[in-house]
Amino acid sequence: MTDILNASLLLEWYDTHRRLLPWRETGDPYRIWLSEVMLQQTQVATVIPYYERFIKAFPTPTALADAPDDRVLKMWEGLGYYNRCHNFLKAMRRVRDEHGGQVPDIPSLFSSLPGVGPYTCAAVQSIVFGHRLAAVDGNVNRVVTRLFAMEGVVTGAAVRRAIQDAVDIAIPEERPGDFNQAMMELGAIVCTPRRPDCLHCPLRIGCQARILGRQESFPVQGMKKKVPLYPVALAVLVDDGKILVQKRPATGHLAGMWEFPGGRILTGEDHAMALKRCLSEELGVVPEVGLLVGCVTHAYSHFKVELSLYLATVREGTALPKKGQALAWITSEAFETLAFPAANRKLFPLLADALKVLPSAI
Ligand code: SF4
Repeated sequence: MTDILNASLLLEWYDTHRRLLPWRETGDPYRIWLSEVMLQQTQVATVIPYYERFIKAFPTPTALADAPDDRVLKMWEGLGYYNRCHNFLKAMRRVRDEHGGQVPDIPSLFSSLPGVGPYTCAAVQSIVFGHRLAAVDGNVNRVVTRLFAMEGVVTGAAVRRAIQDAVDIAIPEERPGDFNQAMMELGAIVCTPRRPDCLHCPLRIGCQARILGRQESFPVQGMKKKVPLYPVALAVLVDDGKILVQKRPATGHLAGMWEFPGGRILTGEDHAMALKRCLSEELGVVPEVGLLVGCVTHAYSHFKVELSLYLATVREGTALPKKGQALAWITSEAFETLAFPAANRKLFPLLADALKVLPSAI
């Protein structure tokens, strides 16, 4: 196994070919941890500006721990997978309160912090503190299943175990953090999902997938579930030049973010019916539903939404927040001060256009 996954060849390649990335120029555990959290499910090029802004705003665990939730969420806005942000913030508050502001260097202590799973624990603890823990992410899955031509479904228990065993054996005592980063780097820039650059791969000699000429057959994916599409009706409730936005509860999907009121369109409902029901349930008002502002679709990891945004006014009642939620009447210029999910943000230009044509609406 060690011949196929040869750490020396890999590290030699990494020393010459690794990309210069902001989090590779520091030994600061907080910064490296932040980069690992931001990089989950997200491309390096997307992460870099977020990482730099975040570090500038919150340079230490305590600076982040002391910041208000809304400010932190606003900094994360657009990066998606917001649970990462909530968990990182909770973890920094534990670091401040229980560890004197220092990131713990004991893996068992570190992994008890919010949002720290086996991958994050192995990555941070190996890179920063030199613990010999092998980190397995999607890139490593791809490299290892190709090296050993693993035929089972990559999410299956047997293959996951085999991947972990392969890297646990190969990771060296010296430079375990560089080994982990080298594996991820190889998957990111050489052993890519499509058309891997085997000619420039340091592990090409022993790679079973290359020898078989079946590089793109690995990793073997399971049956893909059909992603459901949910139609959603939203309202731009307008009153006295201001627009009503509501804050989602502090837990659950898109926790703590702001959005236009509305909700899922149920079977048998048209858009206006759905809006009237949702605004009555959510805000306790009867709306007058006006013109359609526009429609957008947005994909989350397990479902898609099709959002239809309507101009509306309150015909009866006074909008009040449900328990655990907040409401705010704001001008459209003030949208930039609050954290909105990407799906709502896609509607902003459509709303701006509608307001140009219909200035009397505001
Ligand atoms: S030889 Fe090709 S398929 Fe095998 S690990 Fe290297 S890049 Fe990936």
